[in-house]
Amino acid sequence: MARTTSARVSSAFRLRSSHGNFFLAKKGRIHYDCRMSVQEALEGTREAEILSGMEESYRRIDEKQGAWKHAGAPLCIEGCGDCCTGFEPDILESEALYLAAWLIDNEPERASAIADGSYRPPEGRAQGTCILFEPHSPLHCTAYGGRCLICRLFGYAGDYGKDGKKRFRPCRFYPEDKLRLYGMEHRQYHEDELRQLYGTLPPAMADCMQQALLLLPGSSGETEPLREILPKTIRRLQWILLCTGGRNGGGNAGPQSA
Ligand code: SF4
Ligand code: SF4
Repeated sequence: MARTTSARVSSAFRLRSSHGNFFLAKKGRIHYDCRMSVQEALEGTREAEILSGMEESYRRIDEKQGAWKHAGAPLCIEGCGDCCTGFEPDILESEALYLAAWLIDNEPERASAIADGSYRPPEGRAQGTCILFEPHSPLHCTAYGGRCLICRLFGYAGDYGKDGKKRFRPCRFYPEDKLRLYGMEHRQYHEDELRQLYGTLPPAMADCMQQALLLLPGSSGETEPLREILPKTIRRLQWILLCTGGRNGGGNAGPQSA
């Protein structure tokens, strides 16, 4: 399926590759139309390596959480979005790249609006809430497939205690009566107890963060608020897509003046 995204530029230019990538400046905006995903189109770049690493990292989280849920751990309450309310994640470059690529692939118009500053976040969000949160939808997250690490881990991840063993505390927003249905209460559970209850353990936040950090050699783990890092990361990907338009298409190697 062809994907289209756009970015504002100061002057018009055009680039076309033999595999159907197409870039056309119109009213100061570059439009990117590609039959490949961002990751495929960027093959061979550092960004594609990070995207592939994050995909694998998120796949492993899904796998571990799947086993944890399947074993009978408390499931999120339908329509609940309390963990996003009044919250905005601070994210790593690797998380921002994955989210930006997901938006370009799946929500190209919105990706472009976020990149050029014309995006208006959903109304009715509590103060300080993530710009991707939609309070009126039961799913709430409008970038679910690209969401960040903490968004994937909240409610379904543990940490390590001083003894080096895993611990788990149920989500603090979970109603007490519903938690009791799972045989749990609002307290910390130690690895041994968890094994007895479920026969398996949830993923640990620190391990998942470490995997995301390993994809950024030389980084000391700096994070930025999502609303700040996302626009510039989308612009960066749009620009690399333009400059590498011929990389996979076998055509032009970079933008050309019209
Ligand atoms: S990205 Fe989605 S899940 Fe994460 S804080 Fe924003 S709205 Fe919530
Ligand atoms: S983690 Fe807790 S607050 Fe977040 S959606 Fe699940 S139940 Fe609701």
